Amino acid sequence: MRGPVAAEELGTVLAHEHVFVLDGEVHRNYPELWDEEQIVAQAVEKLGELARLGVSTIMDPTVVGLGRDVARVARVNAQVDIHVVVATGLYTLNDVPNLFRYHGPGTLLGGEEPMVAMFVKDLTEGIAGTGIRAAFLKCAIEESLTPGVERVMRAVARAHLITGAPIMVHTSAAHRTGLVAQDVLREEGVDLGAVVLGHSGDTADVDYVRRLVDRGSYVGMDRFGLDLLLPGDARVATVARLAEEGLAERMMLSHDASCHIDWFPPGVREAIAPNWNYRYIHQSVLPALRAAGVGEKQIETMLVDTPQRFLTAGRTGAQQARAEGQGRGAAGR
Ligand SMILES: [Zn+2]
Repeated sequence: MRGPVAAEELGTVLAHEHVFVLDGEVHRNYPELWDEEQIVAQAVEKLGELARLGVSTIMDPTVVGLGRDVARVARVNAQVDIHVVVATGLYTLNDVPNLFRYHGPGTLLGGEEPMVAMFVKDLTEGIAGTGIRAAFLKCAIEESLTPGVERVMRAVARAHLITGAPIMVHTSAAHRTGLVAQDVLREEGVDLGAVVLGHSGDTADVDYVRRLVDRGSYVGMDRFGLDLLLPGDARVATVARLAEEGLAERMMLSHDASCHIDWFPPGVREAIAPNWNYRYIHQSVLPALRAAGVGEKQIETMLVDTPQRFLTAGRTGAQQARAEGQGRGAAGR
């Protein structure tokens, strides 16, 4: 956010945290829904707490479809000593936005996929005139591979092949769609070692997670605190088991939390998911992992080495220079 940061300077990384998940169009029409100055101030406070716990970087996969606004995130980041590594791509669980509905592959007007050039620009030139470059790609699949989901996934794959930027996929462990994403990306020629399958830790089915890893990908054990989907002790047990099998180098830890998300009425998120905050891993999950036999070296691997390796996966030469995340520059320290 404050300029490029070399991969080896990322330090302790939470690999999937949002700063804001907000619908800008709704807000322009219903500005009373949130106070811009207030949410920025709250975000500064919450990210500051996280930095004080020892986290030096978050990867923020808030792309178009989730309300990406890197200028707002940059306002926050100017006041907090943490690297925020941002993404490009598109988040949909079903259809593409209407903007893409009538042009592009398989549509009324046909033609080239416009998303590819948009994603590549974000990765190479910067996002929306800010000069802040995305460092990874993001797409999503929930229950099934709908035509819209497939189109975005293939566009993300093509942008990856051009830039070398690694890919994060939101998947549904319950529907085992990490496997579907792997099939589509591999069909496009993507090395699955450049892919992290997000939300793989939402299941107690260790065999499913192991299968994703066996096919070469990273897995996101990235919803700690979302006990509604799977209780924390079950998440810890899965990570401990896979770490024992030597797979810490394929797992990344995170919460998928946010400073402000407009998907829930005020106060409801805190009431239904009290552990779903940036602090939970350092305050509760790491002690639980240690108690379950996970060693300090394995914890460091999951929080430091694995995200760093992911962010530089598949990149060489000129691509390597762009593999650097958008974080606080050396001059800012
Ligand atoms: Zn997320």
